[in-house]
Amino acid sequence: MKKFHVIFSLVLALMLALTGCVSSTNNNGNTASPNNEGNNEEATNEQESGEVNVYTSRHYEADQMLYKKFEEETGIKVNVVEGKGEELMERLNREGDATNADVFITADAGNLHQAKEAELLQVVESDVLAENIPEKLRDVDNQWFGLTKRARVIVYDKERVSPEELSTYEALTEPEWKDRVVVRSSENMYNMSLLASFIDIMGRDQAKEWAQGIADNMARDPEGGDRDQAKAVVAGEADVAIMNTYYIGVMLNGADEEEKKVAENVGVFFPNQETTGTHINISGAGVTKHAKNQENAIKFIEFLSGEEAQGQFAEANSEYPVNENVEPSELLKSWGEFKEQDINLSVLGENQQDAIRIFNEVGWK
Ligand code: FE
Repeated sequence: MKKFHVIFSLVLALMLALTGCVSSTNNNGNTASPNNEGNNEEATNEQESGEVNVYTSRHYEADQMLYKKFEEETGIKVNVVEGKGEELMERLNREGDATNADVFITADAGNLHQAKEAELLQVVESDVLAENIPEKLRDVDNQWFGLTKRARVIVYDKERVSPEELSTYEALTEPEWKDRVVVRSSENMYNMSLLASFIDIMGRDQAKEWAQGIADNMARDPEGGDRDQAKAVVAGEADVAIMNTYYIGVMLNGADEEEKKVAENVGVFFPNQETTGTHINISGAGVTKHAKNQENAIKFIEFLSGEEAQGQFAEANSEYPVNENVEPSELLKSWGEFKEQDINLSVLGENQQDAIRIFNEVGWK
């Protein structure tokens, strides 16, 4: 009886073991079919060869569409983390070499310079990027690359101001413009970069004089973003605003009827055409210092600098392409061609601290 019991137990154990075997075979077999286990397996493969992780402060639909295109063309999966430029830089810093991020994208050469100074980026040698992106729109050490270009211009009320009255940024400091100018706060990086460019072009003393003159001619204390400056002009609070071109495009093409009207009622004027050129800035990208998917990261930035992506940036977001083989959108063309400041955008970051000091000295809030 005992013997039978032992045999029975052995048979039972064997059966259980076999069932285990069968079920594990089943699991293996299932990896080919699209259940959870299969997806996990795919995810692991992606981590090994086929993904790129992007930290970006740009939050436009056009960008999402481009990432999808890149995925289709290359099979490389694009994982995106969106956030404010500063927050993402803090995060990169905190994560150190444990970071997942391969690419950092943000607006303003000043921000990109900060990322470089904080040693968050690495040097990238790429013939494609060197060919697609003009030298002055790239970091001198090839740590960041401009992807879109924006001009910081004078926007005026079409009814009260004639473009013949306008000429240069400097002319807005004349007494005739007293209480007629609006521009956002000096805490905004676009303004830091604008002043940084003037420090490079005209020297510190004259740049400070300019900032003082604008602060003196302001129609109100700075408030709101670039769009709010155009709104103040159309509302009659001021006659001219200093702001970025693409916001006019964004307002014209957007769903907000009121903003559309504002954009239709202002003119775009490119200052300093007879002298030093209109101030331009960029949004751009770099490969993070601790990128795990370095090759894919470079491929990704190369793709964004290519003709297809550049055309879409211009069309969907009213930004100027950096790639000179690509034509700007019809709207951008309607504003006309213009002469740009002839400086390497690296100086925008290099002069940033000095620009902040000047703003404080002259009381530009
Ligand atoms: Fe902006």
